Amino acid sequence: MDKQAQISAIAERPVARGFALIGGRRAEALSGRRRAAVSPIDGTVLTELPDCAAEDVDSAVAIARATFEKREWAGMPPKERKRRMVRWAELIAAEALELAVLESRDMGMPFAMAEGLDIAFAIDTIRWYGELADKIYDEMISLDDTVTALIFRAPLGVVGAILPWNAPAMIGAWKLGPALVTGNSVVVKPSEEASLVMLRMGELALEAGIPAGALQIVTGAGEVGKALSEHRDVDCITFTGSGVTGRALMHASANSNLKRVSLELGGKSANIVMADAPDLDMAADVAVRFMFSNQGQVCEAPSRLLVQRGIEDEFVGRIVEKAKTLRIGNPLDLANDLGPVISGSHRQAIVSKIERAHASGAALTLDGRNAEGPAGGYYLGPTIVSRVDPASALAQEEVFGPVLSVIAFDRIEDAIAIANQTRYGLGASIWSANLDNVFYAASRLVAGNINVNGGTGPVVEMPFGGFKESGFGRDRSMHALDLYSDLKNVAIRRSARP
Ligand code: NAD
Repeated sequence: MDKQAQISAIAERPVARGFALIGGRRAEALSGRRRAAVSPIDGTVLTELPDCAAEDVDSAVAIARATFEKREWAGMPPKERKRRMVRWAELIAAEALELAVLESRDMGMPFAMAEGLDIAFAIDTIRWYGELADKIYDEMISLDDTVTALIFRAPLGVVGAILPWNAPAMIGAWKLGPALVTGNSVVVKPSEEASLVMLRMGELALEAGIPAGALQIVTGAGEVGKALSEHRDVDCITFTGSGVTGRALMHASANSNLKRVSLELGGKSANIVMADAPDLDMAADVAVRFMFSNQGQVCEAPSRLLVQRGIEDEFVGRIVEKAKTLRIGNPLDLANDLGPVISGSHRQAIVSKIERAHASGAALTLDGRNAEGPAGGYYLGPTIVSRVDPASALAQEEVFGPVLSVIAFDRIEDAIAIANQTRYGLGASIWSANLDNVFYAASRLVAGNINVNGGTGPVVEMPFGGFKESGFGRDRSMHALDLYSDLKNVAIRRSARP
């Protein structure tokens, strides 16, 4: 069977009835309430999931705490923890095709991205952290002949991971990998818009031998995240999502037990194209592919294109031509590059932002508002808005949809000033063959993730996170271990010997 036939055959299967995963068992909400999981492809109900609330969070947290206190997971020999986490990655890999199809159906991600990015990077991340388990050493310092000082890295206890819908498996793995490998018990709150893949990953974790209380999943709306964030027995909240929720989480921490909070929030990343870019065609290609991947629903999407005056017309011409070739429709069809956006209300919010920018004088160089896809779905094509005022709402606010703003600049200093002129600081890119420009930009851009001449994808080896209102704390890499562990000093005085 060819790939397309395989995808279509899997997508025909009904989605099994959904459950939360509490204490190693498939659980209903204590209230018995359920909510629909709707596919943005055509608005059909895929299944129903428990609509959990604070009482369900209480049960999961109590189990997580008990597991931690019994050291079922934290006390397991690191080699064994490694074996189970790597096994978990292998089980996900064995179901990668099914999971990618499920992700496409649940949140509308184009299949190729679901398979090649969301699921593939989730597998790599879990394996990478699993393999780290027996390679994390504590430290020892000899202060003098009579005092030996040890520095232990200790897990925090119970971690609450609150996830967004835009790349649930990959972003979930960025949090679960380091939180689990350091020995914590984790309670996951997936987004109500896209929970299905994380739920299956949770079942596979149990199958791989991760203890029932070390990884639990509580489904439901923001109320579940709120209950986790206010819980006095949760030691850390790791979050990816909107700034509004991020602020609420910090309040909740301050008003409860001062739990640690890490926030990966939105962005308005600038993509600076200098006239001396080494390959303008590649720059145009990446500008379009990166911007419109996942329908622009990527926190790091290069949504402000800053083009040096002189090449502006030619470069914008190239990106418009490339954007026009992107095909929109059912994300399960391999011929399509873009699927639907997550919901009807999100589509409407994006359209309003385009209309507002148009009304205030920006040029709609490419208008995706009439794009069509399967009936009942929420489709929107690539939209390119030129002559955007860098201070305008379109250039300042995150759209989280397929809308690119084009801004011209004269000197690199101007480009950097414009790039830094938002409250965000997540990503930035620069295209230039001049090393002076590249290093100058890298040192002055206020962003956590800077790509030069194409850069690289979301690799687990490099930390990820933002400056300013894009949040704080870093997912991925060894640095993420610091989020989920703390240091403990033990100074041992010995008797002096001649
Ligand atoms: P959101 O903040 O609405 O929801 C994220 C999660 O928080 C969901 O699980 C939701 O149920 C939960 N939640 C909602 N209200 C809550 C509350 N009061 N307390 C606790 N939890 C609550 O964000 P979203 O719409 O899912 O995601 C889109 C946003 O996420 C965009 O702004 C995007 O830029 C950002 N994002 C950031 C990154 C990053 O790494 N920086 C990555 C992906 C998405």
